[in-house]
Amino acid sequence: MSHLDEIQQWLVEKHLDIAYISDFRNIAYFTGFESDPIERVLALFIFPDHEPFIFAPALEVESVKKVGWKYPVYGYLDHENPYALIKEHIDKINKNPENWAIEKGNLTVERYESIKNQYPNAKFIGDLTPIIEKEKLIKTPDEIKKLEIAGQWADFAFETGFNALKKNLSEQDIVAEIQYALMKKGIMHMSFDTIIKSGKNAADPHGAPTKDLIQPHEMVLFDLGVVYDGYISDATRTVAFGEIDDKQKDIYKVCLEAQLAAQDAVKPGIPASKLDEIARNIIDKAGYGEYFIHRLGHGMGQSEHEFPSIMEGNDMELKPGMCFSIEPGIYIPGFAGVRIEDCVHVTENGCKPFTHTSKDLKIIPIK
Ligand code: MN
Ligand code: MN
Repeated sequence: MSHLDEIQQWLVEKHLDIAYISDFRNIAYFTGFESDPIERVLALFIFPDHEPFIFAPALEVESVKKVGWKYPVYGYLDHENPYALIKEHIDKINKNPENWAIEKGNLTVERYESIKNQYPNAKFIGDLTPIIEKEKLIKTPDEIKKLEIAGQWADFAFETGFNALKKNLSEQDIVAEIQYALMKKGIMHMSFDTIIKSGKNAADPHGAPTKDLIQPHEMVLFDLGVVYDGYISDATRTVAFGEIDDKQKDIYKVCLEAQLAAQDAVKPGIPASKLDEIARNIIDKAGYGEYFIHRLGHGMGQSEHEFPSIMEGNDMELKPGMCFSIEPGIYIPGFAGVRIEDCVHVTENGCKPFTHTSKDLKIIPIK
């Protein structure tokens, strides 16, 4: 059953007349057409017993057709009232849709009121947000393939970054080298702003790369990912720039042990929270528990903000096709930070990572 069929079936089951999909990422998920229209209106309407249609800015209509969308697509010009036109198109299918499903987690109040103005008797009783989140939990083989290719590009990015490390270059310089190399290969978008942090800067788990020069005998944290055909990668490696001291080596060793133990434990049926517990216990026992200040992982697919969340309190049992990160970290303020991250998909008896760059401590010669 296609993603679209599942929503159609849900509409039938719930006796809903129409679904209005407004989140551009979800429109990409259902139609294959990806575009962030910013303030313009891009919408997908799905009906229980009629074919769906896309409503798009006129300048996007040709692009919608190019991705192979086999149902109608209607455009509007900037000076036209999109919601009056939407009503005209809906009227051809159903004169008075009463029971609506919307994405309560995405539809703005302004757009909600625009629909309400066209359909004063409409009842917005269906919430698509949790339904779509649930549908996205399990990736199809086709989606896994795209995530694998996005992962290969992350591996390429690591290799590029490691090769670029040398004295008198800043964190920002290394970001530039990586993104230039990717763009030359046709990868135009990162899944988020590349994070490169060296020495004590890495003790702050997020935040932007700086102009600070990367110093020999420090660890350097690379957290990056690309977008490939609408699907992302997200991976982290921490490497040593020249020999490092025993304390840095120790936090690396503990973080790696936690990452590998959690990844090894992934299999269908295990609760998500158990993975967090396994990694956290290892870091706690080594005495660094207070420095592991985030959940173990997050779901991913079209973005790094999907489910399941791999954390204490989430007892959702893992199933084949679920995709998420495993990314323990140890961040010691004023000293150093380590994070090691792979995203994986659950298989019938374990899991497979999307990225394959070695996780053994890599010491990059100072040059
Ligand atoms: Mn990451
Ligand atoms: Mn992540």
